[in-house]
Amino acid sequence: MLTLALSKGRIFADTVPLLAAAGIEVAADADSSRKLIIPTGDPGLRLIIVRATDVPTYVQYGAADFGVAGSDVLDEHLAQAGDHALYQPIDLGIGRCRMSVAARVGFDYEQAIRRGSRLRVATKFTAIAREHFARKGVHAELVKLYGSMELAPLVGLADAIVDLVSTGSTLRANQLVEVEQIGEVSSRLIVNQASMKTRAAALEPLLRRLAAAVARRDRETKP
Ligand code: ATP
Ligand code: MG
Repeated sequence: MLTLALSKGRIFADTVPLLAAAGIEVAADADSSRKLIIPTGDPGLRLIIVRATDVPTYVQYGAADFGVAGSDVLDEHLAQAGDHALYQPIDLGIGRCRMSVAARVGFDYEQAIRRGSRLRVATKFTAIAREHFARKGVHAELVKLYGSMELAPLVGLADAIVDLVSTGSTLRANQLVEVEQIGEVSSRLIVNQASMKTRAAALEPLLRRLAAAVARRDRETKP
């Protein structure tokens, strides 16, 4: 039996159609149930539902053979846990957004940087932020938060935030603007290295079908 780790919400919602295209049916309401282990139409595959930030951990330890994780979550995980036993064979192209720096409307980010000011930056993504500001030579004091980062600049906790942005509407609703893009984000399939070897007979055909489903979707949605 293979185990695939997914998080509830957008990753679950975007992965289910890819699984279907690869020939694996999942009950659509599965993630609204309280069950954390979910069977699929394939008796050789089950899903487990974990927190988005926990997906790499389950896969690294082999509690899941593979999983779907945002590249944001993966980069943070690898920065902290090191490059442990994880393959990233497929960019699934789902959960697309970008990692950006945002600040209050009217805060002159460029000037603050030119002047070499010490910036206080609130974020859930401390490893990604640390790397970004170090590369720019900016002295950033990072404040770790677990959610609602947009609030931090509004109440004086931070000058700026590092967060995921897709449409920008959450930023706009809080009088924040994107001042710098750090990188593109999308969700990756990650695979436990030991599973790749010991369960290759079951895993490889499944990975091939998923990769084919991604390629087909990309061909069909090409403008
Ligand atoms: P939790 O809600 O449990 O605290 P989370 O906020 O990390 O965890 P989601 O909001 O479902 O969970 O985000 C999961 C992944 O989806 C993120 O790691 C990222 O890769 C992607 N994602 C997050 N926000 C967006 C967005 N606005 N647009 C597209 N993809 C996004
Ligand atoms: Mg979220």
